[in-house]
Amino acid sequence: MSMQQNCLFCKIAAGQIPAQILYQDDDVLAFADIHPQAPQHILIIPRQHMAASMADLTAADAPILAKIFTTAQHLAHERGIDEKGYRFVTNVGKYSGQSVFHLHFHLLGGAPLGLFGTPTNQ
Ligand code: 5GP
Ligand code: ZN
Repeated sequence: MSMQQNCLFCKIAAGQIPAQILYQDDDVLAFADIHPQAPQHILIIPRQHMAASMADLTAADAPILAKIFTTAQHLAHERGIDEKGYRFVTNVGKYSGQSVFHLHFHLLGGAPLGLFGTPTNQ
């Protein structure tokens, strides 16, 4: 699967846009979010542009998803947020505020996290 034109995360995966990369292998990439919402805010993505969001996934995508989740586990441990707890979330579409349409998961931790999923008044 090739790079999608004008996709920010494809460009980060290709090294065309710099990022603070925390882990990478042939399948997944983890890097620091540029606007952190918690003391630790890491984005974990499949290297390939396999889906715009989780809405496009099928059961056939299970292996890469398992790898993304175990990468999150390892990073949470490595960065010392696993004992006190963390959050691992993905946004889908307009109401979630999704802004980058290359499947990605947010790993958040390092402080107590507020209640999420509360509607805003916009
Ligand atoms: P979404 O809102 O689509 O779920 O998440 C996209 C995330 O990408 C946001 O948290 C945003 O801060 C982050 N982001 C946007 N542009 C960049 C960038 O150029 N570099 C990095 N590292 N993160 C970015
Ligand atoms: Zn992409």
